[in-house]
Amino acid sequence: MGLLDSLKNALGLNQKQETEVSIAASRDDRAEVLQKHQCPNCHAHLDDGELERDFFVCRHCGYHFRITVQERIKYTVDLGTFQETASQVYSINPIGFPGYEAKILEARTASGLNEAVITGTGEVKGRKAVFAFMSFKFMGGSMGSVVGEKIARAIILGAERGLPVVLFATSGGARMQEGIFSLMQMAKTSAALAQLEVSGQAFIVVLTDPTYGGVTASFASLGDVILAEPRAMIGFAGPRVIEGTIRQKLPEGFQRSEFLLEKGFVDAIVPRGQLPEKLAFLIDAHQGRIRP
Ligand SMILES: [Zn+2]
Repeated sequence: MGLLDSLKNALGLNQKQETEVSIAASRDDRAEVLQKHQCPNCHAHLDDGELERDFFVCRHCGYHFRITVQERIKYTVDLGTFQETASQVYSINPIGFPGYEAKILEARTASGLNEAVITGTGEVKGRKAVFAFMSFKFMGGSMGSVVGEKIARAIILGAERGLPVVLFATSGGARMQEGIFSLMQMAKTSAALAQLEVSGQAFIVVLTDPTYGGVTASFASLGDVILAEPRAMIGFAGPRVIEGTIRQKLPEGFQRSEFLLEKGFVDAIVPRGQLPEKLAFLIDAHQGRIRP
């Protein structure tokens, strides 16, 4: 077994899982709706203005389109309050992975982002918080050193300033181009969360479609409250990989947020349009501003 294969195994990224991630990445519902003006789920007619007004949720069937980080910030953070933090943290190529630099440049051009996460401070319905927004458009939201570092810094900022931390997760998992360094981010972000806990601040996670791999297995599952968007796919390994491994048919709706709510992994499913209000409520409740 070569070094690359060993690394992939260590990261839990075997060939099948990579395919899984690339399938998830190739689903471009937005391009489809812009072209056909039709919901991919219920086939109802949708015009651009209507979609934009409804936060890219189909008003007929509730289908949630994937949105960009920029849109996510616009829909979540009060206008004019978002101030980006740690924007100048850039990735190096820690294990000399062939072609990694080029891949990052390509991802920057495609997403308009420096990395797969944007962090910053801002307000949601007037409540101050630290935010982290992950982007699936940047190398499948994969977690490398920079993603881990920016998220850890955001969490520590929350602990230092006495602010709750709100994280929107989406990821295909660890970034195999950074080998073991990407796995270390799981421990680093979890250790930062222990500091946040000591400071008494809340960590609220919103799981969006899709959230997988090392991200699910670390900070995305460590929220004091874990919310999810409707019908988001959330798991560690993808369903086809699991089915292939255990040679059993998986139950209907496996790894969808509704299934995970039933199993107790998710605390609540919140439609996109109601998220700011829900986040404000949770922040108030955690800070003791709402009493029974
Ligand atoms: Zn629809």
